[in-house]
Amino acid sequence: MNTIKVKDLDFTVSIPREEIQKRVAELARQISKDMEGKNPLFVAVLNGSFVFAADLIRGVDTPCEITFIRLASYVGTESSGNVQELMGLKEDISGRSVVVVEDIIDSGLTMKGLIDSLKKQNPAEIRIASLLVKPGNMKVELDIPYCCFRIPNDFIVGYGLDYDGFGRNLADIYTVVK
Ligand code: 5GP
Ligand code: MG
Repeated sequence: MNTIKVKDLDFTVSIPREEIQKRVAELARQISKDMEGKNPLFVAVLNGSFVFAADLIRGVDTPCEITFIRLASYVGTESSGNVQELMGLKEDISGRSVVVVEDIIDSGLTMKGLIDSLKKQNPAEIRIASLLVKPGNMKVELDIPYCCFRIPNDFIVGYGLDYDGFGRNLADIYTVVK
């Protein structure tokens, strides 16, 4: 097995870059079709979604805008379950079609908290686009119309996702070796 070390843990490739690029392009085409003429506002959740958001938006061929928010709910490899809004949204989203762009949905608590807070600003609609979903860990009910990959409950890094700050630069998605 081809393993790499990120900080003190070993990881192995679980989704190669070609597969990621193909799925992200498919998702972008689907979103373009669904959002045509709606001037959607993509709201990308920093830090983890920056690579996914950059690739996704370049595949969108209908007029759109993008902005960024920053949240935190993770320490090390475990969710703290405590969602903090660190950098709020400056744009007026009332009446707009919003696509929240997330790297990964694990328990779903982060996304649920964010959606509830965005809904208070009366957008026309909010749709979730997540690179990864861990269905085995979901603790809340979430409609996720745009998801690239459903994965098992293992810790992953790469393609924007980190382990204590490291590994975001990796072009493939890696799973921790147990
Ligand atoms: P949730 O609130 O859904 O449990 O956690 C969502 C957030 O936890 C994600 O936005 C992501 O930042 C982080 N997260 C969850 N699972 C993983 C994982 O396997 N690897 C990394 N790097 N982050 C994860
Ligand atoms: Mg995230």
